[in-house]
Amino acid sequence: MRAQPKASHFIDGEYVEDAAGTVIESIYPATGEVIARLYAATPAIVEKAIAAAKRAQPEWAAMSPTARGRILKRAAEIMRERNRELSELETLDTGKPIQETIVADPTSGADSFEFFGGIAPAALNGDYIPLGGDFAYTKRVPLGVCVGIGAWNYPQQIACWKGAPALVAGNSMVFKPSENTPLGALKIAEILIEAGLPKGLYNVVQGDRSTGPLLVNHPDVAKVSLTGSVPTGRKVYEAAAAGLRHVTMELGGKSPLIVFDDADLESAIGGAMLGNFYSTGQVCSNGTRVFVQKKIKQSFLARLKERTDAIVIGDPMDEATQLGPMVSTAQRDKVFSYIEKGKSEGARLVTGGGIPNNVSAEGTYIQPTVFADVTDEMTIAREEIFGPVMCVLDFDNEAEVVARANATEFGLSAGVFTADLTRAHRVVDRLEAGTLWINTYNLCPVEIPFGGSKQSGFGRENSAEALKHYTELKTVYVGMGPVEAPY
Ligand code: NAD
Repeated sequence: MRAQPKASHFIDGEYVEDAAGTVIESIYPATGEVIARLYAATPAIVEKAIAAAKRAQPEWAAMSPTARGRILKRAAEIMRERNRELSELETLDTGKPIQETIVADPTSGADSFEFFGGIAPAALNGDYIPLGGDFAYTKRVPLGVCVGIGAWNYPQQIACWKGAPALVAGNSMVFKPSENTPLGALKIAEILIEAGLPKGLYNVVQGDRSTGPLLVNHPDVAKVSLTGSVPTGRKVYEAAAAGLRHVTMELGGKSPLIVFDDADLESAIGGAMLGNFYSTGQVCSNGTRVFVQKKIKQSFLARLKERTDAIVIGDPMDEATQLGPMVSTAQRDKVFSYIEKGKSEGARLVTGGGIPNNVSAEGTYIQPTVFADVTDEMTIAREEIFGPVMCVLDFDNEAEVVARANATEFGLSAGVFTADLTRAHRVVDRLEAGTLWINTYNLCPVEIPFGGSKQSGFGRENSAEALKHYTELKTVYVGMGPVEAPY
């Protein structure tokens, strides 16, 4: 098998196997080929990983942030040197085209190691609080053993976005990738060891929804950071709450992207396409409800159809390919069922909706799909589809579109395209979302905080803000005079 790792898990600096776990087959979505066979973690493997993380953490936390950061920056360099190899693995793991993975996956993981490695010495400082004669100071201290649980759309990026801030702040991590994409995180763990990370600090265990609770409920775990769907978020949050563990929840969305009639049409269409078709639509922050002001509806749809029909679908390893398959058969079938619902509930299919004809019959491909005349009540306008399906809705005026955009339980992201900057700022101020864009969409460089509000979760990844979610404050009051007791 062409992507078979040495073993399923990476614990305490080495590959570890336990064939008593249930089998996880890693499938290349473009062809249906089984590329690796792994085993889900048994309770013994989970114990081993958490014990290693617990043992290694105090010594790591005692090192200076500069020394910790140096190791992460070295890991970033190695990732960049191996970008091609890692990107090919990411493409095999997910089916995303190499055209994307080569610029957006290992590189974004490397950015995270480089950024957190660089800011750690300054960003982990505490405060000095003068109190007259007495004073106090605060220390930002690590939480201990952190668990990361990943989704399948950005496996290497998620492994790094959780690992980098956790490690640089002095924690250790046990990371569980999605059962659909088990391969990338193992390479990240290997690279960290090569960069000089002491053993036991970044461990990877495989598993599915039955493995996750073993990690989340473990008494030695201080924090859980999940990237996943809202229903999974509810379960993980509930389990973490029982042990009063810290959480970060990066969950799903149904984000609005609003196009006013004064917007630059080509840019707005480009933003909407990126925000619906990149990674075959498997992006949590996608602007899947595209609200277009009525005056430009016809020209928007005509040009959108033209550009969508020109998308190159095919072999993800071909650098010309712009759209690959869905991650799995189950996800493909789920997306098709939404397409059928869209049709039966009266949305107008502008383009797509079927299987492309130039691809392997075993691949899990779907044509990029656009629905117009979508109304707020339709299922496809309310539920997260997580595939290349864009819903275009019409609107008349600003107040109306803001109210409709906010009428959802989700609050991950939102976008506005307009030439009127006053309106742009006014509208983003009123939109209920954690991450918003004006005249662009879905850009998430490591320097800016990323995360959701409402049911889309809480906590933030990236930026110095992420460090707050991997540390807690210790406050020290220092008495400088005699203690005056009234008795
Ligand atoms: P999912 O919720 O099915 O699974 C996510 C992870 O949680 C997997 O590793 C899974 O094994 C694990 N899991 C499932 N049940 C669990 C439980 N009870 N306890 C512990 N772990 C459990 O999500 P998915 O299908 O892998 O990914 C798609 C979803 O992720 C979409 O909803 C998408 O919007 C969301 N997502 C969010 C972000 C973000 O940053 N906000 C990023 C990517 C994906």
